[in-house]
Amino acid sequence: MIISMEKAKRPCIIAGNWKMHKTIEEAETFVRDLDVKFESTDPAIYIAPPFTAISAAAKIAKHISIGAQNMSDASEGAFTGEIAGKMLIDAGATFVILGHSERRHVFQESNAFIQKKLLRAVDVGLQPILCVGETLKEREDGKAYDVIETQLRECLLEEPIPNLIIAYEPVWAIGSGKTATPEQAEDMHQACRKCLQTLFKKEFAKTIPILYGGSVKPGNAKELLSKPNIDGVLVGGASLILDDFVAIAATCKENA
Ligand code: PEP
Repeated sequence: MIISMEKAKRPCIIAGNWKMHKTIEEAETFVRDLDVKFESTDPAIYIAPPFTAISAAAKIAKHISIGAQNMSDASEGAFTGEIAGKMLIDAGATFVILGHSERRHVFQESNAFIQKKLLRAVDVGLQPILCVGETLKEREDGKAYDVIETQLRECLLEEPIPNLIIAYEPVWAIGSGKTATPEQAEDMHQACRKCLQTLFKKEFAKTIPILYGGSVKPGNAKELLSKPNIDGVLVGGASLILDDFVAIAATCKENA
């Protein structure tokens, strides 16, 4: 397998989004067992446990980055039930997932609101993973490119965002068992990259890792990761099973 020079310069990132799963004890056991399997940062392993387990997981993780699945757009104040970015840093988080489709569709988060969170994340020093992706209806109506372009334009800023990661996650593929084909995913990743090149300087846009998310499993990860613009994966369901997650991460090396 020959990978492009540009891709080789970007890190391979395998990220797990645990959503509302795992107690503190379960998270500790998982992170302990995962950490011993990855003694280098290649591939880069990211885990986003629920808020309650971030601190415990971060204390154990030596080679894994621990982050959050969401955060408030405010710095602090009377916002019952919210978590501020600086609290996440305090708990040991280094990154935050923003604009996940469940936040967009279940909790009605708009691009403008996600952009506010992104600004706050950058301000406190959290690495943002910005998720974009179209619904099945939008795809069937031929609007997939327009949707991701609008999401990128309205969530990002015109100046470069340090360490920005984009995750392309077609809504119809999340938790459905239906993965985008590697060709469909690559096509959308290319569209994301083109849009990033219009927003930022071309050289900066080339450095931004774009992850694919949507029913990634050990059986489909290798083919997805072989594509020139798929720099890693954001994994939901399969990130809860240690052997599956480790097998997905191993495909990064197989493609190198
Ligand atoms: C996700 O929640 O970001 C995700 C991609 O989930 P799954 O892998 O279960 O489709």
